Amino acid sequence: PIYLDYNATTPVDSRVLETMLPWFTEQFGNAASRTHLYGWEAAEAVEIARRQVARILGATEKEIVFTSGATESNNLALTGVFEASSKKHFITVQTEHKAILDVCAYLEKLGGEVTYLAPDTDGLITPQQVSDALRPDTALVSVMWANNETGVIQPIRELARICNERGVLFHSDATQAVGKLPVSVEGIDLLSLSAHKLYGPKGIGALYVRKGTPLNIQMHGGGHERGRRSGTLNVPGIVGLGKAAELAQQTLTQEAERLAALRDQLETQLLQQIPGTRVNGSRISRLPQVSNLAFEAVDGEALLINLTRIAVSNGSACTSASVLPSHVLKAMDLSDDLAHASVRFSLGRYTTEENIAEAISHVVAMVAKTRTDFLVM
Ligand code: PMP
Repeated sequence: PIYLDYNATTPVDSRVLETMLPWFTEQFGNAASRTHLYGWEAAEAVEIARRQVARILGATEKEIVFTSGATESNNLALTGVFEASSKKHFITVQTEHKAILDVCAYLEKLGGEVTYLAPDTDGLITPQQVSDALRPDTALVSVMWANNETGVIQPIRELARICNERGVLFHSDATQAVGKLPVSVEGIDLLSLSAHKLYGPKGIGALYVRKGTPLNIQMHGGGHERGRRSGTLNVPGIVGLGKAAELAQQTLTQEAERLAALRDQLETQLLQQIPGTRVNGSRISRLPQVSNLAFEAVDGEALLINLTRIAVSNGSACTSASVLPSHVLKAMDLSDDLAHASVRFSLGRYTTEENIAEAISHVVAMVAKTRTDFLVM
């Protein structure tokens, strides 16, 4: 099938893989080995990657902590601040990824208090909402840069500015934004990212930590990463993340334009050819390569089964007993039925015009088929 699920994960770019390969075999050294060339070379490779990651964020090298991915980065950011601060109130948004919401639930169990801001039907929150929710005991505000299901981009700059003015830390889960949008850490204290969303390998990511941010360690051990995250460094992964960041930065503007054109083509055609189709999320403040569409009068599960020629997702959390409607779409006031009947199309580096043309005709045919089956049932 045609892969249109780049928000779930991306393939490793062959240039990234090539850069990584020697660090598995000939140059297998431990970056913490100080006594021989194997260690020195690995340490140097890690520092080159650190510079590449810092550069794409407008950060300095010392502010980058390598982790196993965005889930770990989010855990380190939120729990680390919670433990380091005497303030115990946090603010986040209902449409965050589970890797934020579940950490918040955990902090509540530890005695923290969390305010979950409700987005409007476009998926957006306003700076005023954050301003109103701030309290004297607010330690941190965490708002994702771009949503993984809808692509909706939050007004991060203004949110960060309010937090700066009020002396509250600001974290952003930028996993879906880095490599797709110009992301800079200006005004931001903590920022999470993950390599596998930008054509790097899985299981490696980073947390940006602004100099001087109080953060308790979550992974105790040998004191790697300036004591902030222990564990022998994943040198090939780190090298891959660095290369992936560099490549993304080089092509960001052209790729955003190319993908927006393909996405708009897909979206316009589906809206035109399939009656009862609507776009989930703001069409103005949105990632260039995502379209989340709701198809009225369709059994969502049946539609996904019928869509055999494309690989897409519907953002539903499948548990063994039931398929829950997406918490993101629910927070935007969609009915359970419409949330179930929503499909996320996410495009990427290897998506072609032919792919999009084929996807359009397939989706048109399968929505029609599913609707007919639905009526018969
Ligand atoms: N946050 C967001 C917004 C994501 O999209 C993802 C990946 N689905 C994560 C966090 C988790 O990232 P990782 O797989 O690197 O742990």
